[in-house]
Amino acid sequence: HVRSRRQRQMCIRDRYYMLTSIQGKTVIVTGGSKGIGKGIASVFAKQGAKVMIAARGESAAKEAIEEIKTAGGTAEYYLCDVSNWEQVQALVDHTENTFGPVDILCANAGTFPQKKIVDLSPEEWDDIMSTNLKSTFLCVKACIPQFEKLGKGRVVVTSSITGPITGYPGWAHYGATKAGQLGFMKTAAMELARYNTTINAVMPGNIVTEGLASLGEDYLNSMAAAIPLKRLGAVEDIANAALFFASDEAAYITGQQMVIDGGQTLPECVEAVDAVSYTHLT
Ligand code: NAP
Repeated sequence: HVRSRRQRQMCIRDRYYMLTSIQGKTVIVTGGSKGIGKGIASVFAKQGAKVMIAARGESAAKEAIEEIKTAGGTAEYYLCDVSNWEQVQALVDHTENTFGPVDILCANAGTFPQKKIVDLSPEEWDDIMSTNLKSTFLCVKACIPQFEKLGKGRVVVTSSITGPITGYPGWAHYGATKAGQLGFMKTAAMELARYNTTINAVMPGNIVTEGLASLGEDYLNSMAAAIPLKRLGAVEDIANAALFFASDEAAYITGQQMVIDGGQTLPECVEAVDAVSYTHLT
C-alpha cells in the first residue's frame, strides 16, 4: 500500500499536533497576565485556542496579549476581580460575545502572601479565601451554562503542593485554599459530569513567576536545592499539563490532580536529595 502525498502530510501533521482538539476553542485563563497563567495562555494560544485573559491590572494584561498576538496567536483581556460574582459573570458574558461559548476554563488566579497564624488577621484570612477558593467556585458556576450550551467542557484548576501535600510557615491560610480547591473539585467533577464536562487540577511545586520571585533570592535558592531535578519549574511545565487536561484526549479523566514539582515532594529527608548523584552536573 502506497500512501498519497496528502496522506503522508496528514500523518506528519497529526504527529506534530498531538492535541489537535484545542484548536479554535474558547479559553478563559484567570490570572493570565502573569506567571503560570500567562504561560497557560501562551501555550494554549500557540495550539490555536482563542484566549481571554482575566486579571485586575491592565498594563500586565495588555502586555500579555500583545506578546501572544505578536507570536501569531489570538488573545484579548478583560479586567476582573475573580472574587466578585458580578465581575466573573461579566467576564464569561464578554468572552462568549468576543470568541463564542467558553469551552475551557483555567481557574488559575491566586495570591500567596506569607504571614504566620499569630500575625494573620481574620480579614486577611477571608481575603485569601475569596481570591483563591471562592473564585474557583464562582468561575466554575459562571461557566456551567456555557458547558451546558456546548454539550461539553473542560475546567483546569491551579492548586499547589502547599496545603494538599506540604506545609510552610506563613502559608496556613494559603495552603487551606489550595487544599480546599481539591475538595471542591471532587464533588464538582460529579456535578459537572451531567454537562459532559471534566474538572482536574494541576499542583505546581516552585515555579519561576513574578509572584514567586517576590519571595526573594534566598527562598528561590533553598527551593531549587530541595528539588531532585535541581531546578525551579518553568511556567510551560505547568501549562503543558493543563493543556493535556483541557484536550479531548483527556476526556475520560475527571476529579484528578497532577503534581508537577520536579520531584520536590518525594525525598524523605534533606539527605535524600543530597544522596542523588547528578552525573549531568559534574
Ligand atoms: P503571579 O505571578 O503573582 O500571578 C498571579 C496572577 O493572578 C496575575 O495575573 C494577577 O493579576 C492575577 N490575580 C491575582 N488576584 C486576582 C484577582 N483577585 N482577580 C483576578 N486576577 C487576580 O502568581 P503565579 O505564581 O503565577 O501563581 C498563579 C497560580 O499558581 C496561583 O493560584 C498560585 O497559588 C498557583 N501556584 C503557584 C506556584 C508558584 O511556584 N509560582 C506554586 C504553586 C501554585 P492582577 O494582580 O493584575 O489581578
